[in-house]
Amino acid sequence: MATIIEQACKGRITPEMEAVAQKEQVEAAYVREMIAAGKIIIPLNTVRKSSPVGIGKGLATKVNASIGTSSDIVDIDAEIRKARAAEDCGADTLMELSVGGDLDRIRREVLAAVKLPVGNVPLYQAFCEASRKYKDPNKLSEEMLFDCIEKQCADGISFMAIHCGINLYTVERLKKQGYRYGGLVSKGGTTMVGWMLANKRENPLYEKFDRVVAILKKYDVVLSLGNGLRAGAIHDSFDRAQVQELILNCELAEIGRKMGCQMMVEGPGHVPLDEIEANIILQKRMSNEAPYYMLGPLATDVTPGYDHISSAIGAASSARYGADLICYITPAEHLALPTEEDVRVGVKTAKIAVYIGDMNKYKESGRVRDKKMSKARRDSDWEKQFSYALFEDDAREIRNTRQPNNERTCTMCGEFCANEGSSRLFKNDLIPGEKL
Ligand code: SF4
Repeated sequence: MATIIEQACKGRITPEMEAVAQKEQVEAAYVREMIAAGKIIIPLNTVRKSSPVGIGKGLATKVNASIGTSSDIVDIDAEIRKARAAEDCGADTLMELSVGGDLDRIRREVLAAVKLPVGNVPLYQAFCEASRKYKDPNKLSEEMLFDCIEKQCADGISFMAIHCGINLYTVERLKKQGYRYGGLVSKGGTTMVGWMLANKRENPLYEKFDRVVAILKKYDVVLSLGNGLRAGAIHDSFDRAQVQELILNCELAEIGRKMGCQMMVEGPGHVPLDEIEANIILQKRMSNEAPYYMLGPLATDVTPGYDHISSAIGAASSARYGADLICYITPAEHLALPTEEDVRVGVKTAKIAVYIGDMNKYKESGRVRDKKMSKARRDSDWEKQFSYALFEDDAREIRNTRQPNNERTCTMCGEFCANEGSSRLFKNDLIPGEKL
């Protein structure tokens, strides 16, 4: 069966393209054209129906939430609650990244629990299984690795972060560079580099890239080129090893797209604000505008407990300069496995970040809601204010817990409410500016 990219190349508009176009208020022909060019992707799987989500050029920036057990904490019910919480708070995609417990069972239960497209990192399970079987992850065989990818595709995963861009040349760049302030911070990337060094062999995901693509194509799954050497410290941003991996990932994105597989490129971990724009320009130019999935980025290293905020600052800037999908960060980042509440806070913070980024990426359409909110606020129309709030229930709850004496005001200024004062002084229709 033809993949969605192959159908797009033949000029066919599929129901998923129609659905994305309707949600994003763009023409279906535009979505088709961009999918054919590899600039928009829709994470899919032939064996599992998920909500159609478009990621890429000209569309709203999306938010991914990652959940999953660790080797220390395995509570499947908690992970299901986190998955549902992420969906409830507005995440566009979910990544199931478990490394503890019965990994097949967790993945299948999460896939059954949500309608979101679900992604994962197959290297995690592959190395876990090798560790459990041989007590040594470096004994992972190529067949185990490819079988694992196929099994996860067959379960219904819609996008896979696969570390194809780490090869021996990239590792050599890392060694020659001679420093890494933050070391390696990608679990999959570190383990794969360890495997390559222990076995003195090329990364099979790079060497047999065709085989990776063939498996994903069979299920029409998006290949998200993992960022195994991403910076875990702002002083490592743009270091040569990371840029080398990005070059390879952009090259592979083009090759995979020509083979008929939807491709996405993953990007940096920690990046100072002044380097975000350049990072995105580099990725977009080198990949011919493949969708860019940015992990954060965290704009500083010194905010444990508040990394969701540092990451949101980086994410707003990333969305503004052209990132297409942002991975949320929770308050537990660098500290512990996130709780359900951490997931809720993480998703909402990232949603705010991409909303602000899109206000600047799409200056016309991105600011319409703000204009409506301004008028509702000016008119003390509380119901409308709630309806334009990104998180209506939270806004209502705060107001309801502190009811004002005059229902047109709030308890912040009470009888000195400036909105009420200015309406009395000028009448709303005399306030300078266009009428709404
Ligand atoms: S009371 Fe103050 S904070 Fe509340 S609506 Fe009026 S001006 Fe705004």
